[in-house]
Amino acid sequence: MEAEKTTLKPDALVVGGGPIGSIAAFLLSREGLKVVVIEEHRKIGLPVHCAGLLGIKAWKALPIKPVESVKNEITSFKIYSPFGEKLEVNKGRTAAYVVDRAIFDSEVARSAENTGAKFLLSTKLKHLDPADGKAMCQFRGRKKIIFKPKVLIGADGAFSIVSRQLNLFKSKKMYFGFQYYTERGDEQGTNEVKIFIDNVKNVNIFHWIIPSGSVVKIGSIFPGRENMEIVRRKLLKIASVNGYRIKYSSLWLVPSEPVESLVKGNVAVVGDAAGQNKPLSRGGIYFGVEAVKIMCKWVLKAIEEGNKDLLENYGREWRRKFMLKIRLSLIGRYVFEGLTHDEVRKIFRVLKRHEDQLSGVWDLDEQEEILFFLARKAFFLPGLSLRFIKDYLKTIFH
Ligand SMILES: Cc1cc2nc3c(=O)[nH]c(=O)nc-3n(C[C@H](O)[C@H](O)[C@H](O)COP(=O)(O)OP(=O)(O)OC[C@H]3O[C@@H](n4cnc5c(N)ncnc54)[C@H](O)[C@@H]3O)c2cc1C
Repeated sequence: MEAEKTTLKPDALVVGGGPIGSIAAFLLSREGLKVVVIEEHRKIGLPVHCAGLLGIKAWKALPIKPVESVKNEITSFKIYSPFGEKLEVNKGRTAAYVVDRAIFDSEVARSAENTGAKFLLSTKLKHLDPADGKAMCQFRGRKKIIFKPKVLIGADGAFSIVSRQLNLFKSKKMYFGFQYYTERGDEQGTNEVKIFIDNVKNVNIFHWIIPSGSVVKIGSIFPGRENMEIVRRKLLKIASVNGYRIKYSSLWLVPSEPVESLVKGNVAVVGDAAGQNKPLSRGGIYFGVEAVKIMCKWVLKAIEEGNKDLLENYGREWRRKFMLKIRLSLIGRYVFEGLTHDEVRKIFRVLKRHEDQLSGVWDLDEQEEILFFLARKAFFLPGLSLRFIKDYLKTIFH
């Protein structure tokens, strides 16, 4: 039996009803464009794969404030070395918000709908024609829709079909984010995030404990699917030592670095689909929000002037604003991942001596501040400067 087919020609087709796709829909439909968002899941915001920690700059950058999603305000951080040393950062004011991503995503989508964007749920992009951004989608069941949009926006997350079909991913390396959602622990009601530096198979990684209303999120970002079991056991140990009861868990991909190119023809990619995450902590909301605002500016211009070549300016402007920050943080990540136990211990000791200055440079959104501070204080530790130069060369020739 032949599947039922429909053809739609919106100004913009947004693939992915995550926060970045919905913000794109909001910004474009607010300006009068006909926008359709397709989302493969039945419900916006589910399943959740996020700790929901948003630095204060990320929150301020949001064009829509999903206030109902805020579960906690964070004022301080404790960072633990694998050997039990502890650094404390007390900002003395709200440094971050913890949001419930299911509520966050649906609030943002609702704002986009209120400006006129149309959301098609249970609708998955199946195929994209790289020549003209023509997209074939399928509803659950057999109904097919062919979209011929003026602009197609790939906001379909870390496993982006859009970026894969256009061959945009530069690196095949994948990181994973695994998280337990727990309840009943000491962290409930606190305003403090804990970060644990740890190691899997000679690669340094970090775990977190983030209190979020009645839930405490315990998670980790790590390279290589084969390390999943080791990480799972480590997180279970953290949960049991602190008396948390596991409710459920989630595992998802985390991009390694930005894609090669943000625009191809009339297609633009943004958010996790474009690898626009902070290279150190891997949070994606801040860079994604900053990117989607730049992208929408150029989508509007390209459609107004009927010139899709103007879209290229999105890539140019984003790179000008963010690539230096990203390169610096990538070097920081390579250095961090390769540090020996002894080097981690020495860095903690140096930082402990300057602990009182840490809160001044601790910024969840602009993380190169912390790196500059670290470089100033610890660069001349034996071996570290050589490692820095080696990793710097790696980011250039990679
Ligand atoms: C464990 C973990 C913890 C994290 N913690 C934080 C944090 O604390 N702070 C932070 O800033 N970031 C965090 N991140 C990263 C953050 O979740 C992402 O950066 C953010 O969700 C990116 O938003 P997005 O809209 O680009 O993509 P997504 O949120 O992934 O949304 C993409 C949407 O596209 C849909 N989709 C995918 N393919 C298709 C298709 N073919 N057709 C139709 N729809 C499709 C998906 O269903 C999804 O709804 C974390 C990530 C992980 C894994």
